[in-house]
Amino acid sequence: MKNLIAFCYASKNENLIIIPCCPFCGEKHIHGISEIEIIDGKQTYGYRTPHCSEVENKPDGYLLVKVSKCDAIYKSRVND
Ligand SMILES: [Zn+2]
Repeated sequence: MKNLIAFCYASKNENLIIIPCCPFCGEKHIHGISEIEIIDGKQTYGYRTPHCSEVENKPDGYLLVKVSKCDAIYKSRVND
């Protein structure tokens, strides 16, 4: 089972959520913004369906955990 957490950050004008490195395909994904939900003590944007097109057995969703832009890039790589 792969990690179902995707680290993400909000765009500058806060209308988009940016995932710099998807835990499933390694590509950048962008989702529309939503309300922050606290799940397991973390700030999240809830669960979304990944936009990967080329991953087989893609999971139904990942939890978007809000972090800073730098952390989103760094933590995504550490998780590899
Ligand atoms: Zn992906």
